[in-house]
Amino acid sequence: MFMHNKTLQYTVRVADPNPALASLILEQFGGADGELAAAMRYFTQGLAEEDAGRKDMLLDIATEELSHLEIVGSIVAMLNKGAKAQLAEAAMEEAELYISMTAGGNSHTQSLLFGGGPSLTNSSGVPFSGAYVDSRGDPSADLRSNIAAEGRAKIIYERLINITDDPGLKDALGFLMTREVAHQKSFEKALYSINDNFPTGKLPGLAPFASLYVNTSQGDGDVDGPWNSGEQWDRIDDVAAAIPLDGGNGLATVKLGKDDKAVVAALAARTASDASANPTTGADLGAGPGAGRMSDEDMGGAKDMPEAAAMADAETDHG
Ligand code: MN
Ligand code: MN
Repeated sequence: MFMHNKTLQYTVRVADPNPALASLILEQFGGADGELAAAMRYFTQGLAEEDAGRKDMLLDIATEELSHLEIVGSIVAMLNKGAKAQLAEAAMEEAELYISMTAGGNSHTQSLLFGGGPSLTNSSGVPFSGAYVDSRGDPSADLRSNIAAEGRAKIIYERLINITDDPGLKDALGFLMTREVAHQKSFEKALYSINDNFPTGKLPGLAPFASLYVNTSQGDGDVDGPWNSGEQWDRIDDVAAAIPLDGGNGLATVKLGKDDKAVVAALAARTASDASANPTTGADLGAGPGAGRMSDEDMGGAKDMPEAAAMADAETDHG
């Protein structure tokens, strides 16, 4: 069950209202790396988790992320508080209200549509999507994804810290950023507490291909490093000579039944191309003045174009 404690996990002290900044901070409310996405990611993983330790950790962190959602939403509400009341009470002249609402970002949508409350959108007003949650129900895959998600969230908080000079806001954002670092540590420890965590899942990789590095991008800029060279790697530089890697014929085939074979042949015959044809097409027939000309051809004067010349003549007649 959930309970609500009215005390925030961290104190929110906002110096001045700033609706444009509020709209940017919504990125961490309803955005891809925001707190709702994080909470839903760990909450749903936790519900399905079989391991008691991971289940406990996931539900702890999911609930903390909801507490972060509360902090971010409170920051947005404080930044919008003045503007919200001004608009609701029509306390300013129309022109002044208009200017206050169009200060930047999507703050006008936040005021007009959402009335200055924290909306479950990102900083561009795009509604929250469950697609931000990319859990696969396998701890070795999901913990890696969680580690990356915490890393991304930390980066977004860094960027938000860099665009505000409000010390109270920097302080609260710094707390939120730091908690993502702590969560990343927990997820890393949990991942490496699984004895057999690489590769993800149950099946081992196929031996001939598991340590193969295929140098498919070649030329100036080829760089050797531990990711492609050394004793862990079987490296292929002559890629064309090495394919297909399985020693087969490298073609795609399928065994078809008699009926399928017949319709496939009919389809192929009906859509066959005639390589000896040189058909006239719209590009030939519909070419207007200049169409099909190459950049190295003399453009000439307007007089060189028959249509233009006729138009010029007609003008002379009228003159
Ligand atoms: Mn968080
Ligand atoms: Mn987190």
